[in-house]
Amino acid sequence: MIYCDVCSVQQPILRSRRCETCKRLITQASNTGATGSRTSIPAAIAVVAIRESVELHASIYPSPPHGYACHYTQIQLETENAKSRLGSYGSFDHTVPNDAGRAVLCSRIINDIKGWMTDTEFYQFVCDTLDVHAPRKIHGLTIPQTHEFLVALKEIMSNDSESIANARDTVHRLSGTILY
Ligand SMILES: [Zn+2]
Repeated sequence: MIYCDVCSVQQPILRSRRCETCKRLITQASNTGATGSRTSIPAAIAVVAIRESVELHASIYPSPPHGYACHYTQIQLETENAKSRLGSYGSFDHTVPNDAGRAVLCSRIINDIKGWMTDTEFYQFVCDTLDVHAPRKIHGLTIPQTHEFLVALKEIMSNDSESIANARDTVHRLSGTILY
């Protein structure tokens, strides 16, 4: 049995060091920002991001035993369908915008919300600044769903251990209803 040298999943594939999902994700990273001004993410940086995502997933979810988790929300990312339009699809985030030196794998909707904030600014925004009760709409969600999403997001990013498992379920469910 061959193991993917990025995510360590067992692969019945010859002639390849990497599983199809990791290969596709690395290509996706190199295309990040291809249509805008954002910086492409080199393969070596993408590999580190993918490994972190796989380790995070393994530390949270007993089953399935293999998967990719969002750096910010800890939800299981959709990675199988390259044409997926889901908000839970995996995307690469420059932790510091336009700095190609470090990236993480996160959900598309979170990447969208984070925008041009750095990772530190994003944590401060969600945990300290964000008023979850202010009426607003996240792309693809209603106002009540947005409220539910932001309350759960804040619980996860504040590491509120009492409610974190339910909060992950909420963010996962709602992210999977968002279409791009
Ligand atoms: Zn892999």
